Amino acid sequence: MRDFSNHATDRDPDRDVEITNIETCVLEGNFEWNLVRVHTDAGVVGLGESYRGGGVTDLVEYMKRFLIGENPLDVERLFRRMVQETSGHGGTTGKVVTAATGIEIALWDVAGKLTGLPVYQLLGGKYRDEVRVYCDCHAGEAYELEDGYEAVHDEDAYAPEAYAAEAERVADMGFTALKFDLDQPADNRPDPYNGRVSNAALERKREVVEAVRDAVGFEIDLAFDCHWDYSLDSAKRLCRALEPYDLMWLEDVIPPENTDAQREVTRRSPVPIATGENRFRVHEFKELLYDFGVDVVTPDPSTCGGLAESKAIASRAEENYIVFSPHNVCSPVGTMACVHLGACVPNFDVLEYHALEVDWWDDLLVRDEPLIEGGYIEVPETPGLGIELDEAVAREHLLDPGTMFG
Ligand SMILES: [Mg+2]
Repeated sequence: MRDFSNHATDRDPDRDVEITNIETCVLEGNFEWNLVRVHTDAGVVGLGESYRGGGVTDLVEYMKRFLIGENPLDVERLFRRMVQETSGHGGTTGKVVTAATGIEIALWDVAGKLTGLPVYQLLGGKYRDEVRVYCDCHAGEAYELEDGYEAVHDEDAYAPEAYAAEAERVADMGFTALKFDLDQPADNRPDPYNGRVSNAALERKREVVEAVRDAVGFEIDLAFDCHWDYSLDSAKRLCRALEPYDLMWLEDVIPPENTDAQREVTRRSPVPIATGENRFRVHEFKELLYDFGVDVVTPDPSTCGGLAESKAIASRAEENYIVFSPHNVCSPVGTMACVHLGACVPNFDVLEYHALEVDWWDDLLVRDEPLIEGGYIEVPETPGLGIELDEAVAREHLLDPGTMFG
């Protein structure tokens, strides 16, 4: 097995630093937010976040055995070490990469704090001072919090008027780009398994998109997410039906595994097609980007391998003049990591914000101003990610009380 431990030992003594501990905790936001903290013998502590859901904290705990004692400044080598050391048990993809991702983000925070530079500077420099955010919206009462997950309870809320009203409300907050879910309960009729959209369901979707477009006008960018639901024929019919509404993108129209089918949809669609949130590391984006299987690539930087890996994916997209708009359902911690990424990627367009219903979103970080203002997040100029966790607020929202960074 290739050995990715430290073989380059000639380094300025000021940067001869060691990782001393790695801790995790899970916050219950609208998703389960996996936070990661890396301690060093220089007294500097880095904060990161892995994509939501179970199993991640156990994997982070497992990885401590080959990270403690390592130099946190070797961020990219350490990511490769995590993948290599776990490659026999799935380390090249999936949850293991997601766990490594939260550590990678925390390592960038450490590196920035040790060198006195913001993370975007370490990643290659800045193209923009603020990062545009799109707001993930939910129609009417179709979405509510229940044990941290969404609960659909009222089919009337899927009426076009409900979407239009919510679009208007969110656009009035200053967002210049919105996204709605376009998969609906009616898609399950008459058959919930085959992915074919009936004419009635297709027309209902068209009416929803038309209502939202009419409500906010053509100045607002609009995207719709289909969550991998449809068969190839239905995907093509849906794309054709939505052509008049000049969408920013239509997302995940077909299931995610088959890149040939994805390319078929993208090449035949008059609407820009987005996908990428369930792929890991540059390797799983190769055909998608080089065979023009996507118009807007949407990796999730908190799951796909971290900031360096996301930058590599963005670079491959840029080679092919493909726009990069990251998926994001993180807390403000992972969101700010994405902001540094957005600052340093030339083909970046817009970053997802998916926590409109979390009323303590702005309280989780110690800061005076709201994070999002006028649909943008300012790129921090302070070292590292430029954020400080409000631990008292975090403690109030722990998934398991008493497990704060333990
Ligand atoms: Mg999506």
